[in-house]
Amino acid sequence: MDNREERKLRKEAEDLTCQLTLKEKIGMIHGAQLFCTAPVDRLGIPALTMSDGPMGVRQEFEPASWKSVGNHDDYVTYLPCNSALASTWNRELAKFTGEVLGAEARGRGKDVILGPGVNIKRSPLCGRNFEYFSEDPYLTKEMAVPYIKGVQNWDVAACVKHFAANNQETQRLWVDVKIDEKALREIYLPAFYDAVKKGNSYTVMGAYNKIYGEHCCQSDFLLNQILRKEWGYDGVVISDWGGVHDTEAAADSGLDIEMSVTDNFDEYCMAEPLKKMVEEGKVSEKVIDEKVIHILILMQRLHMLDGGRKSGAYNMPEHRQAALDVARESVVLLKNSGGRLPISPEKTKKILVIGENADLIHATGGGSAEIKALYEITPLMGIKMLLGGNTKVTYVKGYCQDPKQENQDRNWQADSLKNGGGEIESVNQADKALMLYRRLLREEALMKAKEFDQVIFIGGLNHEQDCEGNDRADMKLPYDQDRLIEELLEVNPNTVITMVGGSPVEMGRWINRADSVLWSWYAGMEGGRALAEVLFGRVNPSGKLPESFYKTHLDCSAHAWGNFAEKETADYAEGVFVGYRYLDAYHVEPEFCFGHGLSYTSFSYELAELIEENGRVYAECQIANTGEMDGKETVQVYLAPKNRTEDEPVCQLKGFGKIFLKSGEKKKLRVEIEDYSEKMDVWIGSSVKDIRICAERIGKII
Ligand code: BGC
Repeated sequence: MDNREERKLRKEAEDLTCQLTLKEKIGMIHGAQLFCTAPVDRLGIPALTMSDGPMGVRQEFEPASWKSVGNHDDYVTYLPCNSALASTWNRELAKFTGEVLGAEARGRGKDVILGPGVNIKRSPLCGRNFEYFSEDPYLTKEMAVPYIKGVQNWDVAACVKHFAANNQETQRLWVDVKIDEKALREIYLPAFYDAVKKGNSYTVMGAYNKIYGEHCCQSDFLLNQILRKEWGYDGVVISDWGGVHDTEAAADSGLDIEMSVTDNFDEYCMAEPLKKMVEEGKVSEKVIDEKVIHILILMQRLHMLDGGRKSGAYNMPEHRQAALDVARESVVLLKNSGGRLPISPEKTKKILVIGENADLIHATGGGSAEIKALYEITPLMGIKMLLGGNTKVTYVKGYCQDPKQENQDRNWQADSLKNGGGEIESVNQADKALMLYRRLLREEALMKAKEFDQVIFIGGLNHEQDCEGNDRADMKLPYDQDRLIEELLEVNPNTVITMVGGSPVEMGRWINRADSVLWSWYAGMEGGRALAEVLFGRVNPSGKLPESFYKTHLDCSAHAWGNFAEKETADYAEGVFVGYRYLDAYHVEPEFCFGHGLSYTSFSYELAELIEENGRVYAECQIANTGEMDGKETVQVYLAPKNRTEDEPVCQLKGFGKIFLKSGEKKKLRVEIEDYSEKMDVWIGSSVKDIRICAERIGKII
């Protein structure tokens, strides 16, 4: 939109604001229900209706309670989580994902979809990591920008969240983030900057935590100084649900809408208390007007006031296809020594599948990212669907999670403000009966494993660990899976290990004995089909890790240097040395490095040229598929300072491109590089630790 049009939108919003009473304006800037503001019917201004995000459009709740409406009309497309999406390193798939989410949100009558989550994965233990993309700011923003554009194509606003430095769940409402500004600006803010500048995200959600002593949802520093003044943002800033604590501070910050989890809507800070302060002359009405103007501009951008709005649609076949496309490219082949994978479906007459995750549904868990999925294909179903009736698939559980203690009358979100949100819970001690049951499951699995030529183990995590409101205590596999895997590999080395989860797990006890290891994130409704296709070679895996897979969480800088899951202050002492930036500089070996992911074929990187064109710099390389199978490769470009100082990372991701090559085919790939300078070497490779080419200056061909 050009400036003239922007000015016109603002003028119209100002004119409309002049006609509103104080009461009406106040109604527009706070929740009048759990997910919407109040309308002004007299002037044809509708309520602003929101929904979570980000893996699909959330189920309908009662207006004033966290009780689900319970109809059968709100099942939706369940999309792969953002970690899965980031694992594809495919900007086009990020755009499709956004398109699906936007179309479905609109189809369900929503105005704002509360995503994407772009917080940086500072520690592998953060319970919401599955909702976020990566440990790396460049990869995060490259996925977030097309995603947001996709959503907003449907006259629905994206709500990029949680601004900012919301990297732990422990005491998420109160923890104060202590961070130096360099790290804040280089690591934690870039994705937000690009989301609003390049993605034009119409709304931003503040974070629960504090930064420099101020709550983010009412932070003058974050919202006024950085977002509004420095970045010139005129979109709508929405609080996280219950993130506002002080009326005056909230009014004076750049916050526009206060939302919360309780039903005392009139008592919210930006409801009656703020109205009173305006009436008493303690807060100028102009401050309220500015918020209302932002909201009215948003409504115009979404065509909520002029009638020319797209209608959207949900549960369309093409949405499920997009979910499948993403799931296929998100699976990461971590290890395949001896080439046990792919398994030939034709030669497999019987197969044993072990592990609770083979048959577990994940859509309904995780917190606000829960999805009422139209369906979810589990790995076991995917395997059976692919193999058909001529192969006998036997399934045993092998292990099981702790029994759920459901309290049907309560909703965690309603309670989420009461305990301060997210204490580290002590590990649930399995009682004797559970221990015995687990032993029986393990013994059954081991006995069966001896009888089969081919075993697939499907374990990992579930939303008991990857969950809003909680952080994990460590990276250990739950439910005694390590022991089961060790013993399985002992009795049958032809066991393929498949992990499903939203954050890495320790693999040290068995990784050297496992020949083939696959990683799948929570990959949406088609996740099980995609995983089976990879296992049986119908799809060549091309996922690359969007985060370092540490050997233990103690190898992560947030734990080694800084502190994490603290209650009052989280000290980001590691500064910019987050993820691979720390591992590389301090020579710590991960289990699997950032950017790692194998294929059933092999690729060679043949030559590179650095080109400068119209002020932009590109790396051009020849990539060849030197193996037997068609496949995709993600070419990663890192910038490495020629004369590195101690406070700089060894290298940083600054470009990537994905290319499809038939077996034997060779093609040129051009990758744009951000922030290039002559002081940098350009490293081109297949992961941060597998650098194939180094280019020293523009024009040089290696
Ligand atoms: C979460 C947000 C979510 C909101 C509304 C909060 O608990 O932190 O990400 O959008 O609830 O459900």
